[in-house]
Parts: sequence; C-alpha cells; structure tokens
Amino acid sequence: KARNDMTAFEEMESAVRSYSRGWPVVFEKAKGYKLWDKDGNEYIDFFAGAGALNYGHNPSEMQKVMIDYIQNDGVIHSLDMATTPRKKFLESFNEVILKPRNMDYKVMFPGPTGTNTVESALKIARKVTGRDTVIGFTNAFHGMTIGSLSVTGNSFKRSGAGIPLNHAVSMPFDQYVDEQDSIAYIERFLEDSGSGVALPAAFILETVQGEGGINAARLEWVKKIEEICRKWDILLIIDDVQAGCGRTGTFFSFEEAGINPDIICLSKSIGGVGLPMAITLIKPEFDQWGPGEHNGTFRGNNLAFLAATEALNNWKTESFSQNIKKMSSLFQERMKRTVEKFPQLNADLRGRGLMLGIGVHVDGLAGEICAEAFSRGLILETSGAKDEVVKFLPPLIIDEDGIKKGMDILEESIQAALE
Ligand code: PMP
Repeated sequence: KARNDMTAFEEMESAVRSYSRGWPVVFEKAKGYKLWDKDGNEYIDFFAGAGALNYGHNPSEMQKVMIDYIQNDGVIHSLDMATTPRKKFLESFNEVILKPRNMDYKVMFPGPTGTNTVESALKIARKVTGRDTVIGFTNAFHGMTIGSLSVTGNSFKRSGAGIPLNHAVSMPFDQYVDEQDSIAYIERFLEDSGSGVALPAAFILETVQGEGGINAARLEWVKKIEEICRKWDILLIIDDVQAGCGRTGTFFSFEEAGINPDIICLSKSIGGVGLPMAITLIKPEFDQWGPGEHNGTFRGNNLAFLAATEALNNWKTESFSQNIKKMSSLFQERMKRTVEKFPQLNADLRGRGLMLGIGVHVDGLAGEICAEAFSRGLILETSGAKDEVVKFLPPLIIDEDGIKKGMDILEESIQAALE
C-alpha cells in the first residue's frame, strides 16, 4: 500500500505542531531495526528514535523484565524514593561501566530528558566554580530549555525565543574549522579574560555533533580542550546524550580520546528501550548540591531503570562493542561506494561508529533524498545547520543485511532525487 496516508496523519493534527516529523503514515509496530505502519508496510530504521533506540525496538529481554515487573505490581513511579530497580541500576552502572574504566563519578538523576541532564550540568558547574559563563561551540545542540538552548550553537533553534542567557559564549567548531585555529582562538579568548572577559565556569561539547551535522571532533582536539580546561581551572562537560551509550563504538564517545570530563550528560539510549531517562555523572568533589536544589517529579521511572539495567548487560563483554565497530566499517565502505557512484552530490563522508553522515553540497537535495527514501521504506533524517547532511543513526544491533537493504534503498532514492 502507498506509504502516504495523509488522512490518518491529519486526524492527529489537533496536537500542537511546534515540531513534527513529516512522515505521513501512522506507525504501529516495531522490532529490532524495523518498523511497520498500520497498513503493514515495512521500514528500515536508520534513525533509531534520534539515538534513543541504540538497542533496537522492543528488545525481548527488556520487554520481559518490564512485563514481569508490571504483573507483580512493582512500583512504577517513585520520584527519588529508593526502589529495587533504581538500586540495581546504580549498582550495575558502577560495576559494568564505571569500575572497568577506572571512572569515579556520582550518578545523578536530573529529570527524564537530555535537556534535563544538560541543565543540571550547567547549574552545578556554575555553582561549584562561582562563575557564570559557559562556552559552547558552533553547530552544537544541547536541548530546548532556556539554559541548554543558550549553549546551542545553531541560532535557528533559538529563533523566536531570543538569546536566553547572557553568559553563554560560542566558539568556532564544525567540519571545516582548522583545529589549530580553533584552539588558538580559544586560548586567546581565555588570555583576554584577565582584561575584562569573565573566566568561564565550563566548556560543554559533543565529541560528535549530532543535530549540528555529524561533525566529529578529532580526538586530539578533544584532548587539547581538556588540557585548556586543566590549565585554566575550567570544568569540562561532555554532552554524550546522542554520541554516548555505544553510538561511536565505545560506551562513552570520548574513551579513545583518553580524557576525564568533570561532568558527563547521558540520556536517550540510557533508558534501554526508549523510555525517558537521563543521568548526569559528576566527579565526587563537585557533588555539591544542596537538598532540593535540583529535583523533578519524573526522576524515578522504574520501568526505565529495569530496561536500563538490562541494556547494561550488553557491555559486560567486548562483543557488543566489537560488532558496532564491524558494522561501522561495513557502513562506511558502502557509503564510500555510494558517493563515488554519484559525483553530482559533491558529497563528503562524516562521523564515527554508527553515527555517520553524507554531507550533500547541493541546496535542498539532502532533504529530497530522505523524502524519497521514506517512500521506499527507509527512515532517515537530515542534520546540519542547513539540513545539508543525510544522517545515519541505525540501532546498534543493525546487521549486514539491514545495512545492505537500507543502502540499496538509499541509492535508488539518490537516483530519484537527482532526476
Ligand atoms: N544533547 C544532545 C547532544 C542531543 O542530541 C539532544 C537531543 N537531540 C539533547 C541534548 C536534548 O535531549 P532531549 O531532546 O531529550 O531533551
């Protein structure tokens, strides 16, 4: 059946349309890296809930623990009360993720979303340093609340709301910025801080900018930013909301850079099955919250804790991570062949792990390719300040067959968009 069911879609138009993805069907079922609409059409998912579904749709083990818990009348909503699922998640996160990496952090539940973890990071950084300014980067995306928006680089995202905070500074970073220039610029800015510019509380950065165009920072550059932070006694916040939880091949996106961030933001796939959940990791010496200084009603979703704990099992051995790296190589080889077939795209390849993109340097074409792909059963989004990047964010459980099918559809879609 046609993958375009505007009548059904329009029935839902009573919802506020501040942000709606234009996929004109009603989705009904999902498993692994596939979705189905209500007419039974199949879609390959290279979008993964914007990164919230790293483990795929409806992983059976996670479904099972949640169903058992509900059937046994387990506590679902518990704010910040102690519960067994919460306790088990914290234990497991320590055992499976932090200890083997020699990482010593306090785990905070800042609220259910990515924006909430970023807000908590900005607040605690400002509190412990007693300074106000936070430095973000061009093309960064950190969320939609006023604080996180103020360190978001893309001014379009702020349009209408104005520039929210006075104390946010944006430094240059994108796919094309000369990294040495960027470092020199930042150092110069900090040197000037003696003569009137306030010394910042923190830097906040994504090691791979997700919404900003799959701009992967070189690991040396990330390391250099850390050195600058140490030299000037500035806190380093890594926003791993999209690039974390295995997306780049390791649990944290910065592991291969060998840095020690002061604060780490995680959300999206930390909840395992796509349930809202976020955590903020804070070096113990910076855990200086007063009682009630940062709280929120939805910090204790026990179904999310259960699924999250189950998800961590994937990190007990090397095989999950190895598979991501293997699939990433397959993907990248195929992307290379695809862009070679279509020199008209004037394309470049971007990203790390399974956070990949094709920069398409013909106005509007990336969006057309994604629309063509959807009509053929492949879910893709654009990213970048001008929506110039076709973004690949498949669930990490993608296999060879999924990559092949998806990329075959992509090639047909490019062909159609060029005609
Ligand atoms: N930080 C990054 C890097 C993100 O990609 C996002 C979401 N795309 C956010 C923060 C905000 O997360 P949320 O939409 O859950 O508020």
